[in-house]
Amino acid sequence: MKKKLISLLSILMLLSIFSTSAFAVKNHPSTEGNTNISSIIGYDDMIKELENLEKRSKGALEVFTLDDLGYEYSKSEQGRDLYVAKLGNGDKEVWVQSRIHGDEPYGTEATLHLLKMYVNNQSAENREIMDELTMYFIPMYNPDGSEMNIRQTVLQEDGRRIDLNRDWATGAFNAVESKAWFNFWADVQPDYALDIHHQGLKTDSETGDAITMSLGISLAPGGPTLPGIKDGLYEDITRQMQVYVYDGLKDYGYMSIDRYTVGSSTWGFQEIDIHGGVVSAMMLGLEYDGMNTEGHSNPAVFFETSGNTRDGNLGQKARGRNIQLNANGIHDWLYGLASEEIFDVDPERWNEIPRPDIIGYNTDHSGFVPVGY
Ligand SMILES: [Zn+2]
Repeated sequence: MKKKLISLLSILMLLSIFSTSAFAVKNHPSTEGNTNISSIIGYDDMIKELENLEKRSKGALEVFTLDDLGYEYSKSEQGRDLYVAKLGNGDKEVWVQSRIHGDEPYGTEATLHLLKMYVNNQSAENREIMDELTMYFIPMYNPDGSEMNIRQTVLQEDGRRIDLNRDWATGAFNAVESKAWFNFWADVQPDYALDIHHQGLKTDSETGDAITMSLGISLAPGGPTLPGIKDGLYEDITRQMQVYVYDGLKDYGYMSIDRYTVGSSTWGFQEIDIHGGVVSAMMLGLEYDGMNTEGHSNPAVFFETSGNTRDGNLGQKARGRNIQLNANGIHDWLYGLASEEIFDVDPERWNEIPRPDIIGYNTDHSGFVPVGY
């Protein structure tokens, strides 16, 4: 009986991973399709802005589509071009992707905001980023879902909705977007990656204060998987990256930041250990269709700010602040990599970032794994 309950619980949890907790948002019914998204940047606006910035950058910013690269699979299910903005001339290659979930818009806006800053402002810090890094920004991974204001993309052949963040996995690759972006990732072979998401409106389980951002690692440090990758190297680098970002955001005055968990105080909090997420697949060195036969892999982390459109206008309240928070976080992450300050961080300081006590790990490979398994 208990086992059954736990497996039911873990299924419920899996449904909510990388998004809002199904339990925490019960007071905020879904407004999918009904939210006023007129103020949120759309696909055409993004293209216009990217092209403007490219012109103003005098060659520094390169904007292209996967179709320009001549890939076999190069567009979205509904035939939209998939855009990349490439900036910088450094040896370290970094990947920043946004809006893999169509109803999580701020990553697109934060990316455009940052590109504008790097194109216009030649501060010493920005110059260092441009000199040390070659950055591949994907402002809108899922243009169809973004235009429809839904989480997924929709398969043209049978109308099935596919969560693109579960589609880089053995036996998956259902959507053409997944094949296209995987092909590009395997070509770029980035050294580091960052993925921008939104979670539901979240409050600290003890103080009740609003949490504005959660820092996430999709394979839990100390959990069933991450310590075994590259002799623990990614376990250290992912924590170093997030601690560095945490320190930076605190300096900007953002105090309500925690580590990403799923669950609730009623059901118990869990960390995630998901093999099928895109950033996990990067860390695991997934191979697909002969594209990654050498098994390239790279450490990757994610951000979750509040404010997805599922939360309706409540989620849009702090729009400007959340976009700025993401932009600051991405910038800190980039600067930490460019300056290599990230690698001076003590990874154990990950434990200083607040997180509710957890009962275990929510996985897509071994069910629910209790703490101390
Ligand atoms: Zn998401």
